[in-house]
Amino acid sequence: MIIIMKAGSSPDQVKTITDHLEGLGYIIHKSEGVERTIIGAVGAPNLDKTEAAEQLRAYDWVEEVIFVSRPYKFVAKEYKPERTVIDVRGIKIGGTAVAVMAGPCTVESEEQVMKTAEAVSRAGARFLRGGAYKPSTSPYSFHGLGEPGLDILQTAASQFDMRVVTEVMDVRKVEIVAAKSDVLQIGTRNMQNYDLLREVGQAKVPVMLKRGMSAKYEEWLLAAEYIATHGNPNIILCERGIRTFETYTRNTLDLAAVPVLRGLTHLPVVIDPSHGTGRRELVGPMCLAAVAAGADGIMVEVHPNPDHAVKDGAQSVTLEQFASFTPQVAAVARAVGRSL
Ligand code: PEP
Ligand code: MN
Repeated sequence: MIIIMKAGSSPDQVKTITDHLEGLGYIIHKSEGVERTIIGAVGAPNLDKTEAAEQLRAYDWVEEVIFVSRPYKFVAKEYKPERTVIDVRGIKIGGTAVAVMAGPCTVESEEQVMKTAEAVSRAGARFLRGGAYKPSTSPYSFHGLGEPGLDILQTAASQFDMRVVTEVMDVRKVEIVAAKSDVLQIGTRNMQNYDLLREVGQAKVPVMLKRGMSAKYEEWLLAAEYIATHGNPNIILCERGIRTFETYTRNTLDLAAVPVLRGLTHLPVVIDPSHGTGRRELVGPMCLAAVAAGADGIMVEVHPNPDHAVKDGAQSVTLEQFASFTPQVAAVARAVGRSL
């Protein structure tokens, strides 16, 4: 359940309530807003929930006690009425500006990343994406440059004042990837890797959680709840397409995820039209649609020479194509009261 304290209640009054809840066997998470504190209580209580709620309502400084019937709490909209804005070393995700993330699928060389970073930052991207550790369906595919790849991303990002978004796949690598990047990406194949979710929950950098390719919204939000309950509230959800019967596109990009998630959670939502469609000619139009629908960001695969990309060339746009549709994305952003 969620306990909303009256505006201006003192730390002592908040403590009285958290002590009471802990006494009943609840685990407590507090969200301290500018005006009021909201307490989330989870776990198996020693007392019936309705009785517990009645006791809490008896305190003068409790405004409201809400039961959340959904299985996730900390990522639920009810827990935090205002939307989460994540500050990534001074660049925000979830505010009025739409975050633009761009870069190659895979870090191949310093020259490739430098060239891409220069072009996409000029076109308005503030986040440099790129995989140093690559998940692959086939064990025979390229698996990334590893740590040297992280260094290349860092060098390029610092040159163009960008922030690095990169995937971590292994619990043993969370520390090093977190030290050398700004946002940890959890890929679609790992959305339900609970050990990894727990580990990034303890990291000090934000996490971008991609939707599992056949995950329902509830499963996705529960995966986010793992990260939140392990201490990391800075979570970005990324829709990257789901599996359907359609094979013309690589996946089916579920743009309804944007308004659906806006109704269910306070977390920011980013759209990845590259993996979402698998076809470069569809990436620009889907970026426009994503921003029109209210997405907090877009993440696009961009390559200086997509036909020679090690991975995902067919869905990667050229530097020129990226620069040609970003002004249109900016125009849509303005039309819906946002900016790039
Ligand atoms: C990627 O972003 O390059 C990637 C591997 O994404 P996904 O996990 O969505 O397939
Ligand atoms: Mn890719």
